[in-house]
Amino acid sequence: MIKKDIKLKNGLNHVFICPVCNKKNCRAKLNSEKIPVIVEFTCQTCGKYKIKQTMLKGADMVPIIRKWVSEHWKGKEHLLSGYIRLINDTSTRKVELLSPDDIKKILENPLIPKDDAIERKIEYLLSALKRISGHFGKPIQSPDPKNDISLAFAQDTAEFAAILNVLKEQNLIETKASFSNEYWVMGDIIVTYEGWTYNPREEESNQGFIATWFDPEMTESIDAIEKAIINCGYTAMCIRDKDYPETIADKALGELRKSKFVIVNLTNLRPAVLHEAGFAEALGLPIIYVCNMSNKKYQTKVKKEAFYNKRYKIIFYSSAKELQKYLEDVISARVT
Ligand SMILES: [Zn+2]
Repeated sequence: MIKKDIKLKNGLNHVFICPVCNKKNCRAKLNSEKIPVIVEFTCQTCGKYKIKQTMLKGADMVPIIRKWVSEHWKGKEHLLSGYIRLINDTSTRKVELLSPDDIKKILENPLIPKDDAIERKIEYLLSALKRISGHFGKPIQSPDPKNDISLAFAQDTAEFAAILNVLKEQNLIETKASFSNEYWVMGDIIVTYEGWTYNPREEESNQGFIATWFDPEMTESIDAIEKAIINCGYTAMCIRDKDYPETIADKALGELRKSKFVIVNLTNLRPAVLHEAGFAEALGLPIIYVCNMSNKKYQTKVKKEAFYNKRYKIIFYSSAKELQKYLEDVISARVT
C-alpha cells in the first residue's frame, strides 16, 4: 500500500463504511473522542473530514451523512472523495461536512475537475506521486486502486488504471508495475525527469505571427507589421527563411500554435497565407486581416473574393507607414 500522507490515530475502535466514497473496501474510522461536538472521520481513500455530531451515537450518523452526500453528489461521490483527499494531502485544513449545504457548496469548488477533464486528472495524479516521492529519483510504491483512486479523482479502477497508463506511456513515470481493470501488479514507481518538469500549461504566449506572401515587393509591409507588433509590446514571428521549403509549412503551423494573435496579409491572396489564416481561425486566435490596395491588381483580386470583404473586417492600406499606424491601434485594442 502506498505510503500515505494521512495517518490513522490509535484508539479508534469503530469501523464504518465511509459515507462519502461508500466503497466496499473503503472503511471509515470514527474518532469518538471528539463527541459530542465534531466527529472526525478518517478514511483510507478520502482522508480526514469532519462531521457535526447530530446523534447520540456516532455510528447512527453514517446513514444520515450518506443520505446528504447521495442527495447532492449522486454519481459524483468519487469527486468529493478526491477533493477531501486533496485538501488532506496539501494543507492542514480538514474538510467539514457539517450540513447538507456544506456538501452542496463543495460541488462548485474550482479545484474539482469535471469528469471528462482527463488532463486535469492526470496532473492531479502526477502531482500526488511527486508529493509522495518527495524528491527527484526517490522510488515509491505504486498506488493501489482500493485506496488511491482519489488521488486522480478517478471514477473507478478502470479509469484509475487508464490514467496511470497514460503517465507510463508518456514517460512521466517509470515502473514495472502494471495496471488494468482485471489485474493490478504493484511495484516501485519513479517519477521521471519528464514527470518532474511536466508543465502542460505553456506559459502565456507573447508572439504575434505574420502570415504573408513572401515577395521582394512585400518587404516594406512586412517590416511595418513587425514594427507595429514590437511597438505594442509583443514579439514578431515571420518565417521569411526560404532555405527549407519542405518544412516551412510545418514550421509555420508550429509557430502559429505558439502565437497569441495573427496578422494576415491578404495581398495577392496566396494559398499558403489563406491556409495559415484558416489554421489560426481553428485555433481561435485573434486575427487581424490587412491588404495592400495601392496596386490595382491586388484590388481586383481581393474584391472578386467578396467572401473576404463580407466575412471579415479587412484593413486596407496604401503605404507601409499607414499600415503600421493602423496596426498599432488595432493590436492595442484587440489583443489583451
Ligand atoms: Zn472514503
